[in-house]
Amino acid sequence: MEKNQNETPQHNPPSWFNWKTMAWMMLALTLFNWLLYPIIGRNQIKNTDYTSFVASVDSAQVKSVTIKDGIIYYTKPDAQGKDRYFTTTEVNDPGLVDRLLQAKSPSESGKVEFSQTPPEKNSPLLDFFLWWILPGFLFYWIWQGASRRMMKGGAGGNFLSFGQSGAKLYAEDDVKTTFADVAGQDEAKATLKEIVDFLHNPAKYTELGAKLPKGALLVGPPGTGKTLIARAVAGEAKVPFFSISGSEFVQMFVGMGAAKVRDLFKQAGEKAPCIIFIDEIDAIGKSRDSSMGNDEREQTLNQLLTEMDGFDGNKGLVILAATNRPETLDKALLRPGRFDRRVIMELPDLEGRKAILAVHLKKVKHGEIDMDVVGRATAGSSGADIANIVNEAALRAVRLGKSQVETADLEESVETVIAGEQKKGAVISPDEKRIIAYHEIGHAMVAACQSHSAPVQKITIIPRTSGALGYTMQVDEGEKHLMSRDELLNRIATLTGGRVAEEVLCHTCTTGASNDIEKATQLARAMITTYGMSDKFGMMQLEQQTNRYLGGNSTLTCSPETGREIDNEVRDIISQAYQKAVQLITEHEAEMHAAAEILLRKETITGEEFMKVLDKKN
Ligand code: ADP
Ligand code: MG
Ligand code: ZN
Repeated sequence: MEKNQNETPQHNPPSWFNWKTMAWMMLALTLFNWLLYPIIGRNQIKNTDYTSFVASVDSAQVKSVTIKDGIIYYTKPDAQGKDRYFTTTEVNDPGLVDRLLQAKSPSESGKVEFSQTPPEKNSPLLDFFLWWILPGFLFYWIWQGASRRMMKGGAGGNFLSFGQSGAKLYAEDDVKTTFADVAGQDEAKATLKEIVDFLHNPAKYTELGAKLPKGALLVGPPGTGKTLIARAVAGEAKVPFFSISGSEFVQMFVGMGAAKVRDLFKQAGEKAPCIIFIDEIDAIGKSRDSSMGNDEREQTLNQLLTEMDGFDGNKGLVILAATNRPETLDKALLRPGRFDRRVIMELPDLEGRKAILAVHLKKVKHGEIDMDVVGRATAGSSGADIANIVNEAALRAVRLGKSQVETADLEESVETVIAGEQKKGAVISPDEKRIIAYHEIGHAMVAACQSHSAPVQKITIIPRTSGALGYTMQVDEGEKHLMSRDELLNRIATLTGGRVAEEVLCHTCTTGASNDIEKATQLARAMITTYGMSDKFGMMQLEQQTNRYLGGNSTLTCSPETGREIDNEVRDIISQAYQKAVQLITEHEAEMHAAAEILLRKETITGEEFMKVLDKKN
């Protein structure tokens, strides 16, 4: 129900006209008069009493005197020698003329001059006009100009304003981004296209009685194109677009954020149909029940909730917001009537990645690119990662003096983005190099000898700036949506392969396996606590995931005793995987030595070269 629909006045008075503005104007005028009167108003006539007039005459200060209608007008030079005008009332003083005739005077003749006409005294009406009406108009004019600029939301908008929203306003055709710039994300595009269509021809919907969703919340991990797609909506809709970040509402002083929200909605209401986009809305939309209260944020949120209820959806005001922490948002914000649409922007799948790659490759000169290879190598990357990879590839092509980007540049830049630049200058002793080579071949061997594991694509022992001394790259052939228990166990075994090779073949044990250990433990733990893959606990949730789109944190939801049992289970899984790796590596000791020899010589070998070594020996 649009409860406030009928209360909206049809003819709003202009927004600058209100009592507050009037009060400010009066204050400004008074200040103006108070400051300027003594300077400009110097020629005004000053009233004195008769005694001081006589005293002035006697002390030879009076220059001229005129008597008219019972009033004596006289002039007296001030300290700067400028004439000042005075008046006093005539009294019955017969000695006055004699006194004046005898008095000395600063005038040229040395005598008081009698002949001057009295200076024109402004009529009170003229005075009023000069000192109140004229400056009044002047102030009014400046004021109106300023408020007009504020309404536009332009750069100079902060003038005379405290509650300015700070939103950037893009006019109808400022935004050049369109849906064509957003690759993949077809579901999101479909939802948002409907909104654009509504803004174009609302009649089509209102005739049927359909109401436009007031708001849509874009949800997904960072870099999936949420900000991008919002701009594309603006570009397609051809309506004004207000863009603001949630954090801009959070102010030092309580109440200012709320004022900003009010201001934003007021401006937007005047521009409707239009779109408001609030990026990173979790900055203000955080659930209010958290123990640490924050008055300012709560007030801002309350104001936002009120405003979202208040406006009439049929006017064509749509609110888009983006967040990667939807679970922290206040429930009130998510209820129907506010953000009733949720647009999920997931990490792109293989097809999506290829499409994103194509969009970004358009911006660089490139030759024939094997999209499939690059698409598969970028598994798990976001759109932003891919944009970055294409740019890195272009930089690399320039560095190598090529005229265009090739597949090899893209493959190398995938590694650069994942593992950092190659550290060419790093000096690694031959002993260490040997251990690293065996470690990596160990991973590759365990992976290759198991049936349910992704093929090895590349093995390298060139150190990277990320700190990796070498790595084994495995790339799945197709797109993976599910992982079976066997695959997970194989993966853990592969991770232990590095350390096993060090121990079995180099008879040592190094710190190089720390990252493998971390990953293996995480996987094993997840198998038990979230995937329900242990015999002991079965399908029981033992850990709760929060912050899903930002890496995810998990908290145990079971008793400490169960926690201890989980630890035992994790240890069992890892040690079984370890045993399996030991067995595989001892079985293939000869191949291990052969492959490590080649790797040491070449520093980087492809999966095919590695498999050749394996096949030859079998
Ligand atoms: P988010 O707001 O979701 O964190 P952005 O919209 O800021 O991510 O995306 C950052 C950049 O990544 C974009 O400017 C764009 O270059 C690229 N990008 C992300 N997703 C896509 C996509 N689906 N298609 C094309 N480019 C994308
Ligand atoms: Mg963003
Ligand atoms: Zn390793």
